Amino acid sequence: MISSYAYSGLINAIVSLLFGLIVYFGNKKAELNKKFLIMCSSVFAWSIAYFFWQISDNAETALFWSKALMVGAIFIPVTYFHFVLVFLNKLKENRKLLIFIYILSFIFLFLDFTPLFVKNVEAIPIFPYWPKAGIAYGPFVFMFVVLGIYCWYLMFKSLKKSTGTEKLQIKYVFIGTLIGYSVGITNYFLWYNIMIPPVGNWLVPVYIVSIAYAVLKHHLMNVKVIAAELVGGALILVFLFNLFLSQTSGEFLTNLILFIFVFIFGVLLIRSVLQEVKTREEMQKLAEDLEIANEKLKELDKAKSDFVSIASHQLLTPMTAIKGYSSMTLEGSYGEVPEKMKSVLEKIFQSSNRLVSLIADFLNLSRIERGKMEYNFQKVDLKEIVKGLMEEFKIINVEKKKNLDLSLSIEAGKDFNLIADPDKIRQVIYNLFDNAMKYTHKGFIKTALSREIEKGIIKLRVQDSGIGMDREALEKIFQKFTRAENGSKAYVEGVGLGLYVAGEIVKAHQGKIWAESEGEGKGSTFYVELPVNFK
Ligand code: ADP
Repeated sequence: MISSYAYSGLINAIVSLLFGLIVYFGNKKAELNKKFLIMCSSVFAWSIAYFFWQISDNAETALFWSKALMVGAIFIPVTYFHFVLVFLNKLKENRKLLIFIYILSFIFLFLDFTPLFVKNVEAIPIFPYWPKAGIAYGPFVFMFVVLGIYCWYLMFKSLKKSTGTEKLQIKYVFIGTLIGYSVGITNYFLWYNIMIPPVGNWLVPVYIVSIAYAVLKHHLMNVKVIAAELVGGALILVFLFNLFLSQTSGEFLTNLILFIFVFIFGVLLIRSVLQEVKTREEMQKLAEDLEIANEKLKELDKAKSDFVSIASHQLLTPMTAIKGYSSMTLEGSYGEVPEKMKSVLEKIFQSSNRLVSLIADFLNLSRIERGKMEYNFQKVDLKEIVKGLMEEFKIINVEKKKNLDLSLSIEAGKDFNLIADPDKIRQVIYNLFDNAMKYTHKGFIKTALSREIEKGIIKLRVQDSGIGMDREALEKIFQKFTRAENGSKAYVEGVGLGLYVAGEIVKAHQGKIWAESEGEGKGSTFYVELPVNFK
């Protein structure tokens, strides 16, 4: 009967080989991954010989495999030490010690071919052929223990200095080492007739996996990917063993064909998974780059908003002064203005007026972008605001000689009170009237105020017979700095901010704003819906 220890040897062999290869192929160029593979190879050599030793049915083969398993075992400590040095970036300081340990290991390897290392095999409880230690075996165990303590010491030192992922990685290797050493230790007692069985052997997969995990933390190999590789690799190995265990040549042939199939399938599976990992890593890198670029853009955007805010504030005060004084001069506050100067002053006034509202738009934009737009909500009668603005625009209509037919219809008997910021709402409606006037050369501007009681909303409609717009323009005019092509031609000075700001203000009131038009040259209608009560 095959003992459970034979199975544990087999499992350990599979796991160590598999994870060694997974880590190695995860990043073939990385020194750490190479060192891990070398260490896993030692563990593999030890455990596979362990399996054959366990299934040996006579003392002679058992002795042969006992010596063979020590070949792997001798190199586990030193390859592990090498791995830890690369892992902790401590190779330079410890190079001489490492070389010394390698030399020692090769001496032990030489001794392994003599009875000084493994004396003979004897029957003990559970194990029919357990090896007995020769005189040179003790120094090997001593080296094993001292090296283990030294590795822990190094890791402990690095652990204190490290942070984040690095700290986590060291922790995994630290725990891995703890487990790995318990494996080794439980194997040595029986050599010296201490009746403790090698129970630690069952922990080899944990040791391998935890260290593999620490190495892979650098990369994007997730559990799913590792699992796929595990299945692929395990299948191949199982079928390989099956092949070796064939009794007849017929069975061998069937197993061979099966093995070839499984091998091809397994290799394809692993290759495709590795490809996936590569793509994922590349994607992750791209995503990280994008995130960095995004952060930078955000910073730049903020810097821009801050700049616009400061610049606008600096501009607004002198511009308001120019506007105020030119208006007062025009009105005759500083004496009579000669006819010749009037048109010049008029131009100064109009230009400064335009600039003041442009700067106000910029200021609003930067406030919105910095999340600093402040609202002063209170009870407002929308009817009064619309009426007042209509009066203002009637005067502008005359001054600018537009000759448009301006009308306002207010649904009778309805209440138009709502909670809103009066200045901001006035700005929205002002903008709609101003646009209607700018983009209408002849015809009318019809404004209507209505209230839909069931829905709890007040609705304003501003309809003009102006240049209208196509479907494409309708979709984008509420974005900042966007204008319709015909709009830019009709009114050159616009910048495309007014509707964006209006949209943001309406949004803050939990309302809706939109535009409709039958097409270019067919007039436009703008709608604003505001809830009467909002929270
Ligand atoms: P501006 O008028 O400064 O360009 P707005 O944000 O107020 O900025 O308007 C954006 C664009 O929407 C305008 O450039 C124009 O193309 C279009 N638009 C706005 N109102 C009207 C309207 N009443 N009729 C036709 N086009 C309009």
